[in-house]
Amino acid sequence: MNKLFTICFISFIMFTHVATAQSLQSWRPGEQQIKIITVDDVEKTEDAMHALKASYSIGLSISYEEADGFIRCYVTPEELNFLREQNLKIEIEVDDLNKLSASFGSRGVPTGYYTVAELNQIADSLATNFPDICTKHLIGTSSANHQMFALKISDNSAIDENEPELLFDGGIHGDEIGGPENLIRFARDLCTGYGTDEEITFAVDSAEIWIIYCLNPYGRDNMTRYNANFIDLNRDCGYMWNSSGNSLALFSQPETKVLRNVLTEHQFVIHNSLHSGIEFVSYPWSYRQTLTPDDANHSYLAQQYSINSGYLNLPYGPGFSGMYAINGSTKDFGYGATGAISWSVEISMNKQPPASQIGLFYLNNKSAMLSIVNHAINQGINGIITDSITGEPLAATVFVSDLFPINTSALTGDYHKFLVPGSYSLRVEATGYLTQTISDFTVNQGEQTTINVQMIRGGRYFVQSLISCQIPNNNPEDEGNTPAVIGKPDTIAYSIGRNGLVVVDMGTAILNRTGNDIKVYESDDTPEGYNVYASENPLGPWSILGTGNGTTSFDLSATFLSKARYIKITDDGDGSSQVPDAGFDLDAVENLHPDTLTVGWVSGITYNDQEPYFVIPGAIVTINENEVISNENGEYIIACVPGDFELSVTAPYYYGIDTVTIALGDTLIHSMYLSLTESTQFYKDQSGFSVYPVPATDYLTLQGPSGGYLIEIYNMHGIKLDEANIYVTANGYIYQTSRFLTGLYFMRIYDNEQLYTIKFIKGQ
Ligand SMILES: [Zn+2]
Repeated sequence: MNKLFTICFISFIMFTHVATAQSLQSWRPGEQQIKIITVDDVEKTEDAMHALKASYSIGLSISYEEADGFIRCYVTPEELNFLREQNLKIEIEVDDLNKLSASFGSRGVPTGYYTVAELNQIADSLATNFPDICTKHLIGTSSANHQMFALKISDNSAIDENEPELLFDGGIHGDEIGGPENLIRFARDLCTGYGTDEEITFAVDSAEIWIIYCLNPYGRDNMTRYNANFIDLNRDCGYMWNSSGNSLALFSQPETKVLRNVLTEHQFVIHNSLHSGIEFVSYPWSYRQTLTPDDANHSYLAQQYSINSGYLNLPYGPGFSGMYAINGSTKDFGYGATGAISWSVEISMNKQPPASQIGLFYLNNKSAMLSIVNHAINQGINGIITDSITGEPLAATVFVSDLFPINTSALTGDYHKFLVPGSYSLRVEATGYLTQTISDFTVNQGEQTTINVQMIRGGRYFVQSLISCQIPNNNPEDEGNTPAVIGKPDTIAYSIGRNGLVVVDMGTAILNRTGNDIKVYESDDTPEGYNVYASENPLGPWSILGTGNGTTSFDLSATFLSKARYIKITDDGDGSSQVPDAGFDLDAVENLHPDTLTVGWVSGITYNDQEPYFVIPGAIVTINENEVISNENGEYIIACVPGDFELSVTAPYYYGIDTVTIALGDTLIHSMYLSLTESTQFYKDQSGFSVYPVPATDYLTLQGPSGGYLIEIYNMHGIKLDEANIYVTANGYIYQTSRFLTGLYFMRIYDNEQLYTIKFIKGQ
């Protein structure tokens, strides 16, 4: 008895000790919340930004956010000392964040706010009481082993329908407690208002609304910005990540991995992330000053959010705001990697306003949140991407004009994108399918344009989407053109930055087969060095495939992997960092051995069909609607689904057609011999010019009306090789052709009034 009592007593002591230690460790030891005052003082602001930047180079890691007239920072005593030495005007807002957090006691949140457990209970009750329109999804586990949940609110909530999807998240910074309060109320109003409130009923019927009401449960339980590992999660996302906010690596934390999965497994038109500390709608970019290609869409929707909110004035703009970069934010990933309209809404100046104001801040945002749901439903482009033979939906990448691409899922094949009114073009890429383009469609105010696209098999296998990227310390000179890595080689590149990296999803696994399995294309003739890694998982672990220099092929045999779907490319570190096109210029990555083989290939050379045989470059080779152009050596390789098909080739004055049999996974070697569509002895009715012999040997004789002429000689590329003034007699004119290579040439003959063109073939 006595012994048992002692054990119980000891465990009680240990438990309280652990609990106290945990609450003391919400923030880093001694951490304070401060303001650097910069009011209308450009110089002061620049000094502050330099100081913050300099702190990184000496190993400090100051988290900060910009507001109007001040920069709010979270600093340890060491970091504060460093800032003080910079002669900045500093105000202490909270002198002991750990003490403040501990003051909320065992509930963790101020009185009147919901704990994480209470938020989960409300979510449970909504899923239980409104099963048709509300489902609760376990989406992962936090850094402190909390289960993490999302609610999906939509008619037929259990199934994925052809409807626009939206994501609302809150609480990524655990001490910014208004977001989760707003979102759980929004979920409750959507459920209880369904069937009675017209706007809510329309929204729930027509959209799929996902709500991650608490993205950082540890942070909320312990009233801290960070997760259990002291990481600022809004610096940990993998789009232009830069090791700020204590982040150790791209998507290093369980919470950001969860968000990444949700964002990539769904196709969100709008991703709305709630914060507090200021009042502002902040959209991409956060990492660079340049406006996004979608700036008109971001700016219009942010304006709609602001107008439809209850705030007297809710300003909005790009996160960068002209001063400094935040790297690794959720919004830059949401937009940069998935093409969603993605932003942060900062809902209150105070991060923990009195509980009496929770309702006010909710109502300020409720109508704005509903309005963006309605915009996603009512305006833009949508459609379904399917296989032209089976009619099955396809995973595809959809490019609208020059905007960042969006994806479809293999489950439903539907895509949706909000667009301001205008005319646009559409390009759809899917691995193993031919590219489809639709030029010139219009989006009108308050209208949806529907374009369904059927994809034709027989294409090759290139990158389907971007997973993550990094340019160390940013490169303001660079275009940051990440969509350029998707699809086939097109000489449009993404320069990955000096020592930068990029991770791509091939969409289809690459199999380790005989020979090379992967080909990496560089866009230009200046080869640059890089390393290539492969993995079956988007976040690694990575196995090295080798080192490339310019366009290079790789064999999976270099690793222990039998297959891989994700490829990581890192720059070799040569060259300069702060220049245009720094680092390796990645054009495309090709999967040479896709694991769902649906095609074979034909490879050959385009020739003429009579002696002397010569190569015909630049010929258009077509099979089953796929098309390639033979290169300067007349070589071509073209993919096609299995079966018997006509292979046709056209070039200026030449044409050929053969029937070929394509076998799954095989490459048929089949050169094409093209016939001239007209005679080389081409008589003009009114002039009667002719040449002989055919083919010409070391010379040819031009016959025709006697007289003086100017002649010009062109090759098949249209390049002028010679020009001469000649006189044709009754015996003709002898023209030396010994210096020409075998092939087809054009002679243009001018007299004072007319131009005649005659062709000749040079023999060996
Ligand atoms: Zn925040």
